[in-house]
Amino acid sequence: MKVTFIAHSGFLVEWDGFYTLFDFWKGELPPLDPAKPLLVFASHSHEDHFDPRVFKLCAQHPDTRFILSHDIRLAARHREKLGVTEEILSRVTSMRIDSLYATEVAGEALTVRTVQSTDVGVAFLLSAEGRLVYHGGDLNWWHWEEEGRLYCTNMAANYRHAVDKIVAAVRDEAADSGCAPVIDAAMVPLDPRLGDAFGMGMAYLTEHVAVRRLFPMHLWEKYDWIDRYRREHPTDADKVVRITADGETFDI
Ligand SMILES: [Zn+2]
Repeated sequence: MKVTFIAHSGFLVEWDGFYTLFDFWKGELPPLDPAKPLLVFASHSHEDHFDPRVFKLCAQHPDTRFILSHDIRLAARHREKLGVTEEILSRVTSMRIDSLYATEVAGEALTVRTVQSTDVGVAFLLSAEGRLVYHGGDLNWWHWEEEGRLYCTNMAANYRHAVDKIVAAVRDEAADSGCAPVIDAAMVPLDPRLGDAFGMGMAYLTEHVAVRRLFPMHLWEKYDWIDRYRREHPTDADKVVRITADGETFDI
């Protein structure tokens, strides 16, 4: 499995039989093998996670489908603005929170589960080829102290609840598919704007869910904060992928 960091929270994951592209809105896509289907995911509608230009990928890569969070509105009055034709619409699956979508891609079963974000939209847990891949979107422990104590208390409760849901989704998926209850690649926000609280969400997640490789994202290009996280969380240090620039590829 090959994971390419595109930019911000955008990642391309190359599985044996297909590609999954997450939250692509800027940066360069590497050349894609036209024989492999492409599944484009968007965790929510914010402009740093979803750009309607992704629908143009169908022109370059005909075997493309879209799995989008429910808050990305594709009602008739929005479709024209977004450039979504009837034909493109037929390739779109819209997912609500806490839902499960089972499909087939390149002859293999793919299961997608969603968990409600603490921001907008969803986080995705994918299972295929005996592997689990997680992309958190903007699901994070957003400990914005300036928002006040009540906000922070609610955020803590909501984030812990979301992690409980991820734990359950991993457990259920492992039971259904027979794979190990371990996420092979987890893409998780690590946002320097939170100051000293930047690592709370990632640390809490890895305390509760087994993860093999952790890909920090939503860093606003401040990649040196990855090493700060590794120093402050030595038990995670070996799992954390040290991204240093857009476009880097990692074999896992
Ligand atoms: Zn964001």
